[in-house]
Amino acid sequence: MKSPLYAVYGASGCGRGIMPLAKAQLHEQGIDAARLVFIDDSPAAGLINGHRVLTYDEFLAHDAGSRYAILAIANSVVREKLAQRCAADGVQPWTVRAANVITMDDVTLGEGAALSPFVTLTSNIRIGRHFHANLYSYVEHDCVIGDFVTFAPGVKCNGNIHIHDHAYIGADAVIKQGKPDRPLVIGRGAVVGMGAVVTRSVPPGATVVGNPATRLVRK
Ligand code: UDP
Repeated sequence: MKSPLYAVYGASGCGRGIMPLAKAQLHEQGIDAARLVFIDDSPAAGLINGHRVLTYDEFLAHDAGSRYAILAIANSVVREKLAQRCAADGVQPWTVRAANVITMDDVTLGEGAALSPFVTLTSNIRIGRHFHANLYSYVEHDCVIGDFVTFAPGVKCNGNIHIHDHAYIGADAVIKQGKPDRPLVIGRGAVVGMGAVVTRSVPPGATVVGNPATRLVRK
């Protein structure tokens, strides 16, 4: 039987951060590092940090029993486009998590997540597909997070918060906890600026910045 082939899709900043975690995860499972590559559609080099970089077409043509890819691109719209492409070609979503990620009770994590070092997911949490939680971010109790949500490093997502699909939460943002009967909601596609202190729900598509976070109105 042919052995599987694994990939980190995206060989830029995000992908280079996830690749060592992917390698360590495969090592734990006794899988040869030679079965792990980058995919990039505009490769900057054939070899990045010692890992082969293939185009997507080369990845599909490569000898393999089954194919797995983690979508390591911070832009969630691109992630969704690539998720559709991969699904159509039978490339399976792959979740990569750092060895020191803490997951407590009753956490549902959708396919294709990328969990960086020092991430904590506490208890009673639902998370959708292709979630990115970057370094030192956490999700507290009773949160519900949609698909293609992205946390930059150091995001503090407190209890009873709902974050809808494609929201982007900037580095070191703090989101105030909601109430069990009235969660704080970050709407679909909303952007929370770095360091923002979010005390109220954010409408879909809005960008909020500052402390307390207010809506950014573009001139
Ligand atoms: N990329 C790709 N296919 C796409 C879109 C992007 O292979 O359809 C690659 C792109 O060539 C680049 C990486 O994904 O190498 C995205 O890098 P960027 O620095 O924009 O974002 P980040 O790594 O910070 O998410």
